[in-house]
Amino acid sequence: MKKGLLIILSGPSGVGKGTIRRKVMEDNDLNLAYSISVTTRAPRPSEKNGIDYFFVSDKEFDEDLAKGNFLEHAEFVGNRYGTPKDFVEKLRNEGKNVFLEIEVSGATQIMENYVGNDLVTIFLIPPSYDELRARICGRHSECEEIISARLAKAKREMKMKYRYQYIVLNDDIARASEEIKSIIRNKINAVII
Ligand code: 5GP
Repeated sequence: MKKGLLIILSGPSGVGKGTIRRKVMEDNDLNLAYSISVTTRAPRPSEKNGIDYFFVSDKEFDEDLAKGNFLEHAEFVGNRYGTPKDFVEKLRNEGKNVFLEIEVSGATQIMENYVGNDLVTIFLIPPSYDELRARICGRHSECEEIISARLAKAKREMKMKYRYQYIVLNDDIARASEEIKSIIRNKINAVII
């Protein structure tokens, strides 16, 4: 069986990565599986352990890190996040195209170490900073200080978009999702041929 693709979607906090990812994953023909990350961040009210993230303590994160369990890991506005290596490998070995929704420094770690031509990297950008601020604030789950930190971080992350193979504008959820689906479809076809 052909090993699945590794697909990375990055973009500033609030750009709509989660919404787009869920829409893209509805397409069964793409044979996608989502890589559930490990994080030390507290769950938001709507989030479930084992579905949105594996929520762990700092100590548990340190233990995973020491065991070399992460494909990549990063700190983001005071919390830590990591991609479980075995989970991703198992899915890819089953032929699944694995979808990672991760921030820029973790994505860079993968890009710099990756051997093979089955990596797809996509950076999602917002139509404007005003829109981004409105979306981060609209989430209401974070206090003002964290919102400002996330916006500052977003500005720094936006400068890194040229590291990615594709830059997609999230001007419209349906349109941007279709663009990402077609990027993935083309890559699947290119790898098969
Ligand atoms: P949030 O706290 O909003 O869920 O996520 C904050 C940022 O961390 C987002 O940009 C999200 O994509 C990123 N992120 C989530 N999981 C991981 C991970 O496993 N590794 C890295 N490097 N970033 C992650």
